Amino acid sequence: MTLVIDEGKCARCGVCEPECPHEAISQTENAYIIDANLCSECRERYGTPRCEEVCPNKAIDKPKDSLYKKCLNLFG
Ligand code: SF4
Ligand code: SF4
Repeated sequence: MTLVIDEGKCARCGVCEPECPHEAISQTENAYIIDANLCSECRERYGTPRCEEVCPNKAIDKPKDSLYKKCLNLFG
């Protein structure tokens, strides 16, 4: 599972991007996004998600379980 950035809460401050040890966070034209193929949840480096810790707006979180399952059903 990867973390997701809540577009509604994200202020596009850019603080999270350089903190990611895997360069999994990038900026698109309209939002910051996390590449699920690169995100390790920081298990090997910090033990807890670094981006979640540094985000001043609490915009980064694990997807809600039910939403995650819905996505798996739709795209998995
Ligand atoms: S949890 Fe860690 S690896 Fe995943 S996007 Fe955040 S900083 Fe990068
Ligand atoms: S640190 Fe938080 S508010 Fe800033 S760009 Fe990243 S997700 Fe958005």
